[in-house]
Amino acid sequence: MKTDYAYYAVGGEFPPLAHGQEVIERTKGASFGMSGFLDTISPTHTLEPLLWGHAGAGGYITDECFERIAGELIGRLSTLLPVDAVYLDLHGAMCSETFPDAEGELLRRVRASVGSLIPIVISLDYHANITAQMVECTDGMAVYLTYPHIDRQHTGSRAARILMRVLEEGVPQHRLLRRIPFLLPLNFQCTLIDPSKGIVDASVAGEGGDVLNLCYAAGFPPSDLSECGPAVVCHGYSQRTVQAAIDKLETMVIEREVEFAEPLLTPDEAVSDAMSIALTADRPVIIADTQDNPGCGGTGDTTGLLDALVRHDADAILCVFTDADAALAAHQAGIGAQLTIAIGAKHNVPGVEAFKAKFEVTHLSAGQFVTTGRSIPGRQINLGPCAVIRIGGVSVFVSSKRMQAYDQDILRHIGIEPDKQKILALKSTCHFRADFDYIAERTLIAIAPGAHIVDPRAYPYRHLRSDVKLLPSSGEGL
Ligand SMILES: [Zn+2]
Repeated sequence: MKTDYAYYAVGGEFPPLAHGQEVIERTKGASFGMSGFLDTISPTHTLEPLLWGHAGAGGYITDECFERIAGELIGRLSTLLPVDAVYLDLHGAMCSETFPDAEGELLRRVRASVGSLIPIVISLDYHANITAQMVECTDGMAVYLTYPHIDRQHTGSRAARILMRVLEEGVPQHRLLRRIPFLLPLNFQCTLIDPSKGIVDASVAGEGGDVLNLCYAAGFPPSDLSECGPAVVCHGYSQRTVQAAIDKLETMVIEREVEFAEPLLTPDEAVSDAMSIALTADRPVIIADTQDNPGCGGTGDTTGLLDALVRHDADAILCVFTDADAALAAHQAGIGAQLTIAIGAKHNVPGVEAFKAKFEVTHLSAGQFVTTGRSIPGRQINLGPCAVIRIGGVSVFVSSKRMQAYDQDILRHIGIEPDKQKILALKSTCHFRADFDYIAERTLIAIAPGAHIVDPRAYPYRHLRSDVKLLPSSGEGL
């Protein structure tokens, strides 16, 4: 699915596109990079909010969308010049129809607008594909240290502190970028465990003194650009210390190549393992339906894991399954009604077929709630009409809009207690771990057909550089 302007403008899992003062109204006190920046930047500075938007992961940003948003941002900035500094709360893995490195292009335009002397500081997601253009156009950066991302605000605060230091001590003269020679599937990037945990800890330990920032980003293999993949970046005030800091972190990532891996199961293996574990467990077994994670561009409506759960006659609930037609049909039929319906497979994802069956409608909601979990608390969610429909022992939480299953309130708001379930099948890759691992007996990862392909060897890359390995050595048995 291409990502268009309307997707930003309307909102859903994220606030709608904010202009001017709306930026502060919609992000202050929430869990975004911008939220932490606003909390931390010194009140002695006058803030001129430009624009802030957040679409869920998806296909290419349309040229119309990119030019409209970039045009408004640069237009507003131009009318405010001269400014003392610019902060941008970016993701870092965005590709548009024309620009594989879309954020690099955006930064190029911001740099062209403010000139070479005005500091530009950014914050980035842990999944950023950091490019030479991004590093050239910035004077400081902060990257999330966690996946699941529980430090978005903290990262914005760090960016604010970097910016304040740059305003006091001047623009750092030295900056280096090193690209790591292998890609990392998202399932191998979790910072709750090593080696990723040790790497982000080392990046923090390497900052201070003449090192303004030392960053590690794990990259986002589904984005097709030459510079895709993990990278380390350092900005600082002395060539010798910047060089030493980046050498040390780069060496550490490369030396730990053999440690990146995680077992990945077929849907049948995952369901059958989960059912045998659940026999003696008093807590839920989780199956992550990782290839249909909307946070990675999944459509949220694949049926491979659902099909396996039903065939094995599991006692399970699957969420979040996106199908606006099914949610509407359930609302029209009402609780207790029987509904014969084909759900899912609305986006022509290879290997995905609609799942047709007779379901019973068991729960309904308007899909509006606030997240309170440990992954991303305090977010206002509007999924549109939602329903739970059941076939045998398998329930499906159906929503009208896409959302990654990272928060227990998705189920709780409709009347289902997550920790009372035998098997929780979640359309997520890693974010769910922050709010579900602590109630889980075990967590298994299933690879069912979906739009977020875990194995980079399956991508028809057109722009990726030729000298990068598509997997770390430990992942070659995928
Ligand atoms: Zn991310």
